[in-house]
Amino acid sequence: MLLEENKPLAPFTTLGIGGPARWFVSAASEEEVAEAASWAHEHGVPLFVLGGGSNLLVSDTGFPGLVLLVALRGISAAAPADDHGQVAERGVYRVAAGEEWDAFVERAAGENCAGIECLAGIPGTVGGTPVQNVGAYGQEVASSIERVRAFDLQDRRFAEFTAPECEFAYRRSRFNSTERGRYVVTRVDYRLTPDGEPTLRYADLQRAFPAGTRPRLNEVTATVRRIRQSKGMLMVEGDPDCQSAGSFFKNPVVTEDELRRIATAAAKEPPRFPAGRPDAATGTENRGLAKVPAAWLIEQAGFPKGFVLGAAGISSRHTLALINRGGATAGDILALRDRITAAVEARFGIPLEMEPVMVGF
Ligand SMILES: Cc1cc2nc3c(=O)[nH]c(=O)nc-3n(C[C@H](O)[C@H](O)[C@H](O)COP(=O)(O)OP(=O)(O)OC[C@H]3O[C@@H](n4cnc5c(N)ncnc54)[C@H](O)[C@@H]3O)c2cc1C
Repeated sequence: MLLEENKPLAPFTTLGIGGPARWFVSAASEEEVAEAASWAHEHGVPLFVLGGGSNLLVSDTGFPGLVLLVALRGISAAAPADDHGQVAERGVYRVAAGEEWDAFVERAAGENCAGIECLAGIPGTVGGTPVQNVGAYGQEVASSIERVRAFDLQDRRFAEFTAPECEFAYRRSRFNSTERGRYVVTRVDYRLTPDGEPTLRYADLQRAFPAGTRPRLNEVTATVRRIRQSKGMLMVEGDPDCQSAGSFFKNPVVTEDELRRIATAAAKEPPRFPAGRPDAATGTENRGLAKVPAAWLIEQAGFPKGFVLGAAGISSRHTLALINRGGATAGDILALRDRITAAVEARFGIPLEMEPVMVGF
């Protein structure tokens, strides 16, 4: 295990912001994950698990403990159905947590396995996908995950979770809620549908592929990436709008009373979507609840695309993405966040929740 000291974290994040990690290790095997965890435990220092850094806001002073970069690689196309069986099944992928997510999506689409094609172009690692149950364009990774293997930093042993045990909900799992920071995901098993139909639920995709057409999965992934790029939500070298952490705010889930209050304040009906599945962790039903686009609330509160506040700003193509316009600090991003959330709360009485994970604050 190679332990580095005072390693700058900004280059490991898509926002390009953040001070150094006091200690830093890149773990390429489960043994190295366990070794790094033991080191942090013995030295009494906090441990932070770093994937692709695409959903993080790292503080300007950095992280005062050990940052463990998950660098485990390997995809087996037909994993055994269980640890003892030899049944090779098409559509089942056993993927190491450090693999690049988008490359795996492309491989699955190329092998004509459906289930994650709408999640093309999302940056980050495979290990990051179950943590916040990534979702886009009508799909969530929760519906394709069969099993997650992780190192338990509390009990200091490996554990495995079936999909229901991951307690997935909108941008949520046990890994970022009830047991946040407890596990290092080392491997994810996905069950995809061989020769399955692509999911074409999202309006932009339905426009691209009108009813009756049956696009190949890699045509869908290419189209998803094209749509994402048009919104500055694809990592493209030199594109200033993608120096972000993706969507900075979650879409709030509101009651009917709150919907009426928003409509009165805006003097028009807000767009809305079904609130989705019930919250698996609390068992709360989502009946009578709706999701309102945070982007709409932000625009109505006076923040258009391209809004600038010092070195921070709002993407010129996507209201939800706060960007580093060059040389921004975490403080600059937080100042912009606070301006936006205060304005939305004052106008609509709706608190906006941040999506990226704060590190070292
Ligand atoms: C341009 C852009 C577009 C995006 N679009 C979307 C989108 O459409 N939908 C969406 O859901 N997200 C989107 N995101 C957010 C982000 O890409 C995802 O959340 C991604 O899954 C994060 O993975 P990561 O490996 O980069 O995790 P990091 O950013 O490194 O970490 C995020 C959190 O996950 C934890 N974590 C990461 N890896 C592991 C692991 N192996 N074990 C345990 N914990 C771990 C970290 O500790 C941290 O708490 C976007 C981001 C950007 C920059």
